[in-house]
Amino acid sequence: MENKNFRTWLDAMELAHPLVIAGPCSAESEQQVLEIAHELKNTDATVFRAGVWKPRTRPGSFEGNGAVALPWLKKVKEETGLLTAIEIANAQHAKLALEFDIDILWIGARTTVNPFAVQEIADAIAGTDKIVLVKNPINPDLALWIGAIERLHKKGVTNLGAIHRGFSSFRKSNYRNIPSWQIPIDLKSKYPTLPIINDPSHICGNREGIFDVSQTALDLKMDGLIIETHCDPDKAWSDAQQQITPSRLVEIMDELKVRKPRFEREESLSKLNALRKEINAKDEQLLETLSERMQIVENIGKAKKESNVAVLQTTRWNEILGKVIDKGEEQGLSKNFIEKIFKAIHQESIAHQENIING
Ligand code: PEP
Ligand code: MN
Repeated sequence: MENKNFRTWLDAMELAHPLVIAGPCSAESEQQVLEIAHELKNTDATVFRAGVWKPRTRPGSFEGNGAVALPWLKKVKEETGLLTAIEIANAQHAKLALEFDIDILWIGARTTVNPFAVQEIADAIAGTDKIVLVKNPINPDLALWIGAIERLHKKGVTNLGAIHRGFSSFRKSNYRNIPSWQIPIDLKSKYPTLPIINDPSHICGNREGIFDVSQTALDLKMDGLIIETHCDPDKAWSDAQQQITPSRLVEIMDELKVRKPRFEREESLSKLNALRKEINAKDEQLLETLSERMQIVENIGKAKKESNVAVLQTTRWNEILGKVIDKGEEQGLSKNFIEKIFKAIHQESIAHQENIING
């Protein structure tokens, strides 16, 4: 899969801007769907999304209109020329989506986590030339995300892409689903041609954050955006807080900056190269310092061994952490960053000392 070109379906669209998929969280009625689609017709949106089967956390809330909504989407396509996209979560959904000629099928976050469900879908749509987009699993597990894409690919589904919708977490956060940008970046490094679409709606869980998350996604060279759009967002039957109106979508698309993939001017290029040299030198210094620090850690390990003292010294560790966080903040480095770096250093130090003490 590594060497495959996954971009053909996206390149064939010949878009002058990132791909935009817009439409409501749920298809509520024929009228609602058509009204939104007509508002989106003359915008940057190429694809109309609407959930037909909705995976809800608890029973009793609106679970989608089901198959009766599929002819509404056919109408959307006929009346507006927009392509259509729905979520499929089992073989039955998959078969119906193909039967009603839905153009793009996406696999939801709650389905990607389940290899049985993904396999069932892959079997049901084997060999399809429809575009299939795989949302990241709800937990931050890159292998599980890749696994789902592989299952589809193995069944001859080749028009593939990924949707980055963020990851759920117990950590208190302003996001509904924390973006953890490094995970889609790792996916892109492994499959450089695989289109990745960002879903700011499910990352934010509110309207206010959508612009910033979209801009970050474009800055990271993501290929498109899927944004929940509704003519009367407050009255939406699902995900009301995060949906925006079609006119707000147009504003957002106008304000977003699409960056060039690389430097074009010779002068900027040589400036960049000089700065990169400086970064390389700093990285070498960092590695040297870390290695010197580890030597000292090992000497302490030897002393601990001689006196039969425990490796973990909590008071000393808390003292170090407190100090570096304060110092780091003075130097414009966030607490979160310093904490992560020093916890990693501390863990590596413990591993080295364990080797010495038990060696
Ligand atoms: C959706 O797109 O409406 C949806 C249910 O998304 P997710 O699978 O990302 O929760
Ligand atoms: Mn939704």
